[in-house]
Amino acid sequence: MKVFVIAISVLLVFSSVTILGEKDEIEKMLEMVNEEELHEYVSTIQSFGEHPTGSEACNEVKEYLVNEFENYGLAVTTIHWKNGKYEGDNVIATIAGKDNATLILSAHYDSYPTSPGADDDGSGISCLLMAAKIMASYSFQHTIKFVAFSGEEQGMLGSQKYVRMLYEENTDIIADINVDTVGHVASEEGGRLLRVLSDEASLWITDVAESVAERYNIGLSLYRHGNFPAGDHQSFIDYGYEAVFLVEYDFNENMHTPNDTIEHVNISYLAKVCKLVLATAATIANENFSVRAKFIQPKMGRIYFGDREIMEISKAFPVIIGRIHSEVLIDGNGGIKRVEFYFDGELKGFSYSAPHVYNYTNRAFFTHEIKARAVGEISSDICRIKVRVFNILPPGPPHG
Ligand SMILES: [Zn+2]
Repeated sequence: MKVFVIAISVLLVFSSVTILGEKDEIEKMLEMVNEEELHEYVSTIQSFGEHPTGSEACNEVKEYLVNEFENYGLAVTTIHWKNGKYEGDNVIATIAGKDNATLILSAHYDSYPTSPGADDDGSGISCLLMAAKIMASYSFQHTIKFVAFSGEEQGMLGSQKYVRMLYEENTDIIADINVDTVGHVASEEGGRLLRVLSDEASLWITDVAESVAERYNIGLSLYRHGNFPAGDHQSFIDYGYEAVFLVEYDFNENMHTPNDTIEHVNISYLAKVCKLVLATAATIANENFSVRAKFIQPKMGRIYFGDREIMEISKAFPVIIGRIHSEVLIDGNGGIKRVEFYFDGELKGFSYSAPHVYNYTNRAFFTHEIKARAVGEISSDICRIKVRVFNILPPGPPHG
């Protein structure tokens, strides 16, 4: 631990030396985060009144967002979705990177019925607008997408459809940072804390956020939780991607009521959250990853009979009858020592060379988690997916 701390300190010293000459680009971006503009965004969103999914007001908010993103010079698309009895549009604004690996910043623009949604989630949308406006005049290694979802309040309907689409298109998603209800402060403590929900595979995103918060003196600390399906980040987690959910520390008792208005939004707190999101995104968008791992078998939303794919289903998990045949794809610029394969957290086996395949032979029923950890020369990366498995075959040799 101590060695680790020293190594970090040395790194910090070196990195601050390199930025002495010219101002760190991220520092310049952070100076452009403007409280008046954030105030303007939140009050504009509130001025549409309640804007639940499917309403005319929701459509007007969508038009407003499209116009804003276009004014910043970004490529904007809207994608219509239908999910059960609901339908709506997602708004996607893109800063193309030098490569197609994609970082997503997301928030939802639909409000809860009866609520003008200043905090939930006008605050998160305002963070996205501000970050997009600033980042639009910079270039990054990786592609950045600012995604405003609808259908969140009905059960993440818009994000489920969007993430499924990205999955089927084989989009290389680095991470999703979802910003939802980040403007309310009710205590001194709440003014300097931001909650983050993260699963094990996504912890590195929180680590990046924590380090930039300190490095750029943002005045926010992260209060870490395990993951739970609180919002649109869950759609990414469901498809095996890495994602975090950011939410204010203090509970806003006006949430989901007609009183969720700008009077209960603390703009300087919102500005700090916006800075944190911006600095985290800018850092990740230029990160040179030494190892990234993802499951390419089994595929989500498929039914398998052993290693044979039988059919496609609309669910966000694979159903496997028999043994799970898994394969992990490794990406990155570093060497790989091994890939470890886990079942419900228990180490089952290894792979030392590509293709990194492993066949799980243990008996299992219903929902379980398979996980792989790719151990590289410099760092390691975890990927995980939930599977529905029905395997009564006797345990045997893994490659039998
Ligand atoms: Zn929300």
